Amino acid sequence: MPELPEVETVMRGLDGHLTRRVITRATLHRPDLRWAIPPALPEVLTGATVLGFRRRGKYFFMRLNSGISMLVHLGMSGRMVIGAAFALHEHLTLETDDGGRVGFVDPRRFGALDLIATADEERHKLIAGMGPEPLSNHFSGPVLLAALAAKSSPIKSVLLDQRIVAGIGNIYASEALFRAKISPRRQARTLGSARVERLVPAIKATLTEAIAAGGSSLRDYVQPSGELGYFQHAWKVYDRTGQPCERCPGAPGCAGIRRLVQTGRASFYCPLTQR
Ligand SMILES: [Zn+2]
Repeated sequence: MPELPEVETVMRGLDGHLTRRVITRATLHRPDLRWAIPPALPEVLTGATVLGFRRRGKYFFMRLNSGISMLVHLGMSGRMVIGAAFALHEHLTLETDDGGRVGFVDPRRFGALDLIATADEERHKLIAGMGPEPLSNHFSGPVLLAALAAKSSPIKSVLLDQRIVAGIGNIYASEALFRAKISPRRQARTLGSARVERLVPAIKATLTEAIAAGGSSLRDYVQPSGELGYFQHAWKVYDRTGQPCERCPGAPGCAGIRRLVQTGRASFYCPLTQR
């Protein structure tokens, strides 16, 4: 499932192709994804100029000159495909005044498309109640410490709660906890300020590096298939069960990366250095 860095990379790729372009035709190929798509969506998009994009958590908005924004969620399997022929599972097609073509492809259909006034983006039902953006100044040690005070669940599970912090999913929660040397099993309210003051910069650095990797690993963000923004990042712990831990190679007590299931999700960690 795409998390914040992948969504940011997809959005930047779309920005390069669509911003300042006029959408000459928008075609919807089915009435719903995870939820119903507004039937007026093609009509609202057709003829509009794209002003730009804005990400919020794992969602992003495409802003139009009409004062309307299209909300996009990639769900589990959503992808944006540039300049390719009509694809299997393509649900929305945008054609632009420069002859461009963008397809939204989502085989599992957990994605979402919706419309909202640009001025009301933060009030959209999927966005309202969402916690701070982790890369913004609104996400700080004191803010996170306060948010964890009443949480008795393990910190790994709490980081997946979008009301605590937006955009972090299973991969980056494990990666950030490894970087901050915090056990995924630790009860959130027992972190204390020293660990929280390590965790916040670890989250920011992990996400920032992943965004940079996404941008540099794909020329202009487009793969040969036309697909935008999905990249294989070099994870330090995620999906590396039993592989050597880069922090303590060969150290007694660290037999490599360990896997643990928490709230139905896999966590990956170094049992020696994460406490
Ligand atoms: Zn280790």
